Amino acid sequence: MSKNLNPVCKLCRREGEKLYLKGERCFTPKCAFERRSFAPGQHGRTGSRGGGSRTGRESDYLRQLRAKQRARRVYGVLERQFRRYYEVALQRRGLTGLNLLQILESRLDNVVYRLGFASSRAQARLLVTHGHFTVNGRRTDVPSMLLRDGDSVAVRDGSRGLEYFKVLGDLADARTSPSWLNRDTKQLSGAIQRLPERAEIDGSLNEQLIVEYYSR
Ligand code: SF4
Repeated sequence: MSKNLNPVCKLCRREGEKLYLKGERCFTPKCAFERRSFAPGQHGRTGSRGGGSRTGRESDYLRQLRAKQRARRVYGVLERQFRRYYEVALQRRGLTGLNLLQILESRLDNVVYRLGFASSRAQARLLVTHGHFTVNGRRTDVPSMLLRDGDSVAVRDGSRGLEYFKVLGDLADARTSPSWLNRDTKQLSGAIQRLPERAEIDGSLNEQLIVEYYSR
């Protein structure tokens, strides 16, 4: 499995905004963006965030590219897989942009994060990769697995004795979970009731620009 090896805080600095990729740390003064909000690299302080024009005006292409990169980074998905999701979204009925966001939300690592069983998607990905979760009762270590209505996710019995999972119920109780998921923090489990509606997905993502990017 390939993964993005860029230090994650650089991704926030590149996007010019906090993407909250590191869980609780993002809400502390240790957040790299709080300390250095300019883009990384030699020309970071000059205001360019990768491909910016010299006049400072963003082209349509650049805005579409940034919207796509932002979503990719929020969900921690590599380019090739992101494009595959777009193609699947295109084939589904309904709005392609919303379909794409729903596909991203239905990834197992995102569901574990949304259930409050991890402080970030990156941590959720790691927990899944280490085999701590089951889907419909079967152990899986594939964070990109796409879940559907009715699928259930739970901490694997063999992992419940680990320190992290012993206190996870209390940790999860302190985190909110969206209403498209049904969770049981005592049982350390959850289920997908339905796919999320647009209002239940990060409002700062611009799926229309992403669709325009891939439709060029
Ligand atoms: Fe982004 Fe979080 Fe790093 Fe801050 S701590 S720069 S919000 S990933």
